[in-house]
Amino acid sequence: MMYAKVIVDVAAGQTNKAFDYRIPEELIDLILPGMRVIVPFGPRKIQGFIWEITENTELDRVKPISEMLDPYPVLTNEMLQLGQWLAEETVCFLITALQSMIPSAIRAKPKKVLKLRIKEQYLPVSLQAVFAGKSSVDWNTLPNEKGIFSSIKQAVEKDEIEVDYLVKDKTKKKTIQSIRMNPQYRDVRFADILGNRAKKQIAVMEWVQMNYPDEPIPIKEVTDTLQISKYTMQQLIAKEMLFLEELEEYRDPYSDRSFEPDPSPELTDQQKHVLAPVRTAVDHNQDTTFLLRGVTGSGKTEIYLRAIEKVLEKGEEAIVLVPEISLTPQMVKRFKGRFGSKVAVLHSALSAGEKYDEWRKIHRKEVQVAVGARSAVFAPFEKLGLIIIDEEHEGSYKQEDHPRYHARHIAIWRGSYHKCPVILGSATPSLESYARAKRGVYELLELKERVNNIAMPEVNIVDMRKELRKGNRSAFSELLLQKLKSRLDRNEQAVLFLNRRGYSTFVMCRNCGYTAECPHCEITLTYHHTQRKLKCHYCGYEEPMLTTCPACESEHIRFFGTGTQKVEEELTKLLPEARVIRMDVDTTSKKGSHERLLQAFGNGEADILLGTQMIAKGLDFPKITLAGVLAADTMLHLPDFRASERTFQLLTQVSGRAGRDKLTGEVVIQTYTPDHYSIEHAKTHDYEAFSLEEMGHRKRSGYPPYYYLALVTIAHEDVVKVMQTAEKIASFLRSSFSPQTKVLGPTVSPIARIKDRYRYQCMIKYRNEPDLTSILNKIANRYQKEMATDKLFISIDMNPQMFM
Ligand code: ADP
Ligand code: ZN
Ligand code: ZN
Repeated sequence: MMYAKVIVDVAAGQTNKAFDYRIPEELIDLILPGMRVIVPFGPRKIQGFIWEITENTELDRVKPISEMLDPYPVLTNEMLQLGQWLAEETVCFLITALQSMIPSAIRAKPKKVLKLRIKEQYLPVSLQAVFAGKSSVDWNTLPNEKGIFSSIKQAVEKDEIEVDYLVKDKTKKKTIQSIRMNPQYRDVRFADILGNRAKKQIAVMEWVQMNYPDEPIPIKEVTDTLQISKYTMQQLIAKEMLFLEELEEYRDPYSDRSFEPDPSPELTDQQKHVLAPVRTAVDHNQDTTFLLRGVTGSGKTEIYLRAIEKVLEKGEEAIVLVPEISLTPQMVKRFKGRFGSKVAVLHSALSAGEKYDEWRKIHRKEVQVAVGARSAVFAPFEKLGLIIIDEEHEGSYKQEDHPRYHARHIAIWRGSYHKCPVILGSATPSLESYARAKRGVYELLELKERVNNIAMPEVNIVDMRKELRKGNRSAFSELLLQKLKSRLDRNEQAVLFLNRRGYSTFVMCRNCGYTAECPHCEITLTYHHTQRKLKCHYCGYEEPMLTTCPACESEHIRFFGTGTQKVEEELTKLLPEARVIRMDVDTTSKKGSHERLLQAFGNGEADILLGTQMIAKGLDFPKITLAGVLAADTMLHLPDFRASERTFQLLTQVSGRAGRDKLTGEVVIQTYTPDHYSIEHAKTHDYEAFSLEEMGHRKRSGYPPYYYLALVTIAHEDVVKVMQTAEKIASFLRSSFSPQTKVLGPTVSPIARIKDRYRYQCMIKYRNEPDLTSILNKIANRYQKEMATDKLFISIDMNPQMFM
């Protein structure tokens, strides 16, 4: 008897372990760890992952596995181990960790089909009966015969048939008409068979025999290459010398764009200096973590490309992570231009089907480089030679939902598993990473100058309080307006950055001071001009714009502040001749619109690009010579200890957009607090000075990198219940931890209520607490049942990035 330990798909405490099942006779030798199966669980049948295969069980009675879902493991052994570690580290269920590593398209029970890849008559007889004239069959209709699965497995291995998941997707899988040579003709002389007069047919067959004896090839490629008609092909297909085959075309979102090969430039001396230790680490399989700090435009991306080149020479694979918003066509082009079809691109704008296609290219070992956002860190490569995280300081590398992992943490784990280096790159590394580099945990590499000695842009700080005193109430200071005008005159471009969409576009009564708030979340509602609605950004609640004040019935109620739309309107009034492109969540919500707008700007169809966060990164257009920040303070005042760091990073990023080519760049930063150190050091591009000063603050107030943090949030509709539970948890934590560890709270969360649930939190500050995760896991288990039945919500966030 053979048994399997199965992790079942029920995210609950008592199921957070493997259950034993018997492997039915016909599935022995076929079932492997990492495959998904259907198993009976109580009265139901549910999905699970095979964890381990054993020869015995301690149980008296075990039920058999009902069904095998995958023909091959969807999780490698590495991923299973990683999942276990991830579950432990982030205090989540093992099944949640495992599910997060596979594409969503196949997470649910997918419809599975068997497809013919050769003529039915060349299949083993047992399988011919299965197909019986059809080119594909539903997996669920397979006959319940002995040995059927092992015949299928063998045929799959020989590429005679394939197993495919039917991904529900609007974009249907495209196929290309192709041919494949009948293997019987592999070694013949075609002139002998076809006769000397069939010159064209002979030419085709000889060419196919020479170039594609075993693989399919698109018909169009044959007819184009040999300059023959489709009719010749049809004749050969009729003679069964060639088989017609539908070759799958991947739903490649970049397929309509050709990527020109991008030649590698000669490296500068500082680039050579930085690349050398990375290449050595790749060569010697060292799992070093490098922190590459390079000013904007210093050629970091070129370092990544060269390091990957080395990895590919070695026959290994590489993962490149970039923040979602920098994953622009420009960025993709640099990788595709250098490595062509070896690159898979994974990002959230892809449909589920497209994502699955890209994932499958990796799984099938058809690509060696994966470029993608956070979750690409799970790309199922098995010969990893390098992992790169660009803009490593970005908050989006932390997943804010279960499992709450940080991509950097995963990358370093995989680096040590594969014995390969990790590069963390940034112009403004997170203080945590910088501190580790200073202590020698990471190896610090630095690029201090821009490529080709292009100067850093000059930064002008404008005190907006003075503007107001001068009587200027607009969002544009005199200086910024003057500089914008001069760009228009010189036919150069400018980017204008506004911190957040709908930044303080709140509604206020000028008569009594009433402000419109969400009835569920206690945060201000944001006014959306196009729909004339007030919306809550946390829970989605919306209501029509108010015409009279609900408190005093005055009609002097209106929206305040500055959103991108409002700035655009003002800009068009001030500079009617300027062509403006606005980029924010509203104008880029349609698929592909983000790219289209950027492309239009790149082609010079506009003078000014006005936008939110999404334009702060990655833009690399030579004609941009001015970058403006309309209100640098908005981020400084968020309830978050990283507010200064985020402000400095953002200002540096924005500055980095100007003057990247031959034209000199300039920056204008408007602010109400010009003396703040984040702003002063951004003016002089001085990361070192900023980090030193910020480290002082962190040390005094006991924040990372001096202390680690963990945040426990408790929420429930009943405020008394929340307070009581929070108190209990806090005192349990205090009694469990060592005395050096501090437990703060419970206090009301910065957002006191979301979706009608009151929220309290406890903050844990620790330096060395070996039992931390096991203690937190105890809490998760203790309240497991109440969370499932009583709408109690407890979230545990290790190294939190957000404090809302
Ligand atoms: P970063 O990623 O540090 O912002 P990039 O790699 O984007 O910098 O480089 C900035 C610009 O300089 C790009 O346009 C890039 O093509 C160019 N570049 C990089 N390295 C070299 C080099 N060695 N010689 C010439 N141009 C280079
Ligand atoms: Zn009022
Ligand atoms: Zn709300």
